[in-house]
Amino acid sequence: MSDMLIYSSYLVAAVLFILGIKNLTKPRTAVLGNRLSSIGMLIAVVITLLDRNIVSYEWIIAGMVAGGAIGAIMARTVQMTSMPEMVAMLNGFGGGASLFVALANAWDPAAATSLVALISIGITVLIGSVTLSGSFVAFGKLSEKISGNPIKVPGNTLLNGALLLAGLGLVAMTVLEPTNHLWIYALVTVAILLGLVLVLPIGGADMPVVIALLNSYSGIAAATAGFISGNTVLIISGSLVGASGLILTRIMCKAMNRSLTNVLFGVMAEGGETVDADEIYAGKVKSSSPDEVGMLLETAERVVIVPGYGLAMAQAQHAVRELADVLQERGTDVKYAIHPVAGRMPGHMNVLLAEAEVPYEQLVEMDEINPQFEQTDVAIVIGANDVTNPMAREDKGSPIYGMPILNVDKAKTVVVVKRSLSPGFAGLPNPLFAMDNSLMLFGDGKKAIVELTGSLKEAG
Ligand code: NDP
Repeated sequence: MSDMLIYSSYLVAAVLFILGIKNLTKPRTAVLGNRLSSIGMLIAVVITLLDRNIVSYEWIIAGMVAGGAIGAIMARTVQMTSMPEMVAMLNGFGGGASLFVALANAWDPAAATSLVALISIGITVLIGSVTLSGSFVAFGKLSEKISGNPIKVPGNTLLNGALLLAGLGLVAMTVLEPTNHLWIYALVTVAILLGLVLVLPIGGADMPVVIALLNSYSGIAAATAGFISGNTVLIISGSLVGASGLILTRIMCKAMNRSLTNVLFGVMAEGGETVDADEIYAGKVKSSSPDEVGMLLETAERVVIVPGYGLAMAQAQHAVRELADVLQERGTDVKYAIHPVAGRMPGHMNVLLAEAEVPYEQLVEMDEINPQFEQTDVAIVIGANDVTNPMAREDKGSPIYGMPILNVDKAKTVVVVKRSLSPGFAGLPNPLFAMDNSLMLFGDGKKAIVELTGSLKEAG
């Protein structure tokens, strides 16, 4: 096959990847984005397979059949709530794949000749190993196979620094003495350790941010693996994953009001003062019933539904969709307010609501919906807590001060559906529950919403 055809096909694949990512930024075009990227990947794989450098197809076909079967089973059986840990594992495999590509090249005297290839092998082994071990710790924490609590190693920051320096030193040695494979074994060991000590001290709840970061690492490892064999499409796709993973990490840190250093090396920011839940709630929380809230909704013209982590826990997405349908049939305007870190993974609410086939145009991002709360008759908060906590806006001493929130308290009435006054992820009481315009509808999210829809239907 001519170089011209190979390079132009790789170019088409790269353009399809970029168009795919562009389309993935909006729910409406996300499916198209996924398809474009898949076609790009198919072109890249087919062209690489037809390229003259392939020596034997048997192992490749065996790998494709085994990997394809495992992937198909996982896609069908993994629960939506287990998606973050599955992504963690897949990131690890991505890093591991790049690591093995680098090792195979390191052992092949014909491949590891140029300085670029030698440096790329060392860096790929370093980043690939860190991604592999770090991702498996993240998987273990999220699936509760290991404790989600931060596991502190004494002198952690110092140890991280020492391991990183040792890793870089060993990369240099693999370049200087490529035929002495002891250096590469030592590099793999040090880098695997570095991945472990980097992720073990981070709490399970911060894992989604860590996963976004590890995703970025797996992309960088793929890009550097691309330099080893001079494969342009691998360099481009790896760089795209590396850059988009970093952007996602930044977006998540910003939405949680944490800095990346705080996630990696610290714990949740300490509050200046302790907040007493009893003081906030005492005598001020008003409990309501489905019938009472149903009556309120009968006359409401504008309703905003605010989903949070509890929606996923209660699996209430279909029930919520039905409530919205009943309201719309009555002529009520219904929208869903989407906070970027509601739930426990990026896009969690979008995925859940898409599963219930909520029309995309009803999902409104935080910045767009916030000015609309003042004209909202009823805001129904379902299993959301931190992302609605006014302390983030008003209380300078609060650990979540500065985190952007959904201003549901500005609505004429707020109905909060949750099982108790228990705090959310940040462990803080929420003054929203005690506000004059707030009503609590205590109960499991799904059950409460089904009952609410029932009473609204009865009202006719
Ligand atoms: P929160 O964690 O603040 O609150 C969830 C609430 O859901 C709880 O207070 C709980 O109250 C309620 N709940 C649990 N189960 C049910 C149920 N079956 N029915 C009804 N309610 C239920 O969730 P938010 O979505 O508001 O905020 C997300 C938090 O997670 C933020 O602090 C964010 O920073 C953090 N985070 C988000 C990540 C992401 O990528 N999205 C990643 C990492 C952290 P009760 O027990 O009383 O029912």
